Amino acid sequence: MKASIVVLPGDGIGPEVASAGVAVLRQIATRFGHEFTFAEHAIGGDAIDRFGDPLPPQTREALLAADAVLLGAVGGPKWSDPNAPVRPEQGLLAMRKLLGVFANVRPLKLHPRTAALSPLKPERTKGVDLVFIRELTGGIYFGAKTRSEHDATDECRYSVEEIERVVRHAFALARTRRRKVTSVDKANVLETSRLWRSVATRVAADFPDVALEHQLVDSMAMHLLTRPADYDVIVTENMFGDILTDEASVLAGSLGLSPSASIGGPGAGVYEPIHGSAPDIAGQSLANPLGTILSAAMLLRHSLGLTEEAAAVEAAVDHVLEHADLTRDLGGTATTHAVTRAVIEACNAKA
Ligand code: ATP
Ligand code: MG
Repeated sequence: MKASIVVLPGDGIGPEVASAGVAVLRQIATRFGHEFTFAEHAIGGDAIDRFGDPLPPQTREALLAADAVLLGAVGGPKWSDPNAPVRPEQGLLAMRKLLGVFANVRPLKLHPRTAALSPLKPERTKGVDLVFIRELTGGIYFGAKTRSEHDATDECRYSVEEIERVVRHAFALARTRRRKVTSVDKANVLETSRLWRSVATRVAADFPDVALEHQLVDSMAMHLLTRPADYDVIVTENMFGDILTDEASVLAGSLGLSPSASIGGPGAGVYEPIHGSAPDIAGQSLANPLGTILSAAMLLRHSLGLTEEAAAVEAAVDHVLEHADLTRDLGGTATTHAVTRAVIEACNAKA
């Protein structure tokens, strides 16, 4: 198949990990006979430096024409002055809005070798294989805000439609997995959560083969550490998802390992590692590329429908996690390039 992929390297280690993802996608294209084209564009701090805009017009135009987007990372101390007129993160928000993506998908699967780096005991992390779906467009982050000398307010608002589309996504995904959805809310206190719960219950009726459980966010925070293996698909609103996915990322052993996808809109999906721009290690080939490479696998599966190709990348990463020297964050001594090469070789070896 033909696919045009926009690559947004961004800042810090972003360019290093993005080029690792592209190298693996090129290998997959060769092995399976696809024609992928890659177009690099500016976003974030890099785009502010070069064009004075965190999401310049030429990037926007390319995004609207893309089949999928592979992103490195955005931001860094150089642009972090809170009084600056433009900030790198505005580029991310503008991109999400432009593409209409509303579901942020974060799988968490622990490999035995890296689970040893997790703060949880091995018996707790055994069998963990879950996916978070975080609503991305609504809730308290986007509500009306006021601030006076004496008080401040942040409005939290959700429409039925916003809840329904993301919950449906969770049920559809659960059908391809262990058929269990955990919907997280705070329905004992919040009106938006009561609406969330009623919509989730109604949607569940359309998926009789999938089990739905409701869980309060505070107890979810606890169960994520005490019995993470019990969960399959977890769906929740924007702020709860922000907090819980950061908590969950600790279970994986390194930030460098976890992929994510932002999908659901009419436009292309955006695939990126969950880590930030890691300015402390940028430019030294110390960055772990596996989170980006696994994001590229999600891109193949979700945006291009290439299931076998995605599985080939994931199997190659598993092989590398099992047998190869890894980057420093995983206790190894390998460079970003060496790990990327090992993944590409593992892709070939299985051909
Ligand atoms: P952001 O605000 O952009 O999300 P952050 O403050 O969460 O950034 P990161 O940039 O993700 O922070 O980095 C946190 C720590 O994890 C840093 O010490 C960084 O070096 C390390 N780290 C992040 N990503 C990787 C990676 N791919 N490989 C190795 N180490 C990483
Ligand atoms: Mg962060």
